[in-house]
Amino acid sequence: MKRSEMDANLFCIYCNDETPHVLVYLNDEITRIECKECHHIVELKVDIMKEFYKEIYERVSTKPSRITSEYKKDLSSFLSKLPIRIASKPYRLMHDLNESRKIIRKYKKKQ
Ligand SMILES: [Zn+2]
Repeated sequence: MKRSEMDANLFCIYCNDETPHVLVYLNDEITRIECKECHHIVELKVDIMKEFYKEIYERVSTKPSRITSEYKKDLSSFLSKLPIRIASKPYRLMHDLNESRKIIRKYKKKQ
């Protein structure tokens, strides 16, 4: 999961003008838009667990379907078995998943 920021000029209804905004992305979804002028923040509800599942699904979708159906059934037990099951680049995958977990934790705390 990736969090990224982007600057863009958007129309702010509070400034009633086109102003610079900061857009925060989680993967490809916009999760937060802040007006740099009045600092009005719009938080968009991103289904973070859906994003997380989607990411894992994309990673394992090339693997045998038995694994993907298993993961749909029980994600947490699937994750605990993951490093053994997927021999290629387990470290990289677990590292990314841990990063994702951190983002999810932070995101959930905010709500
Ligand atoms: Zn504004």
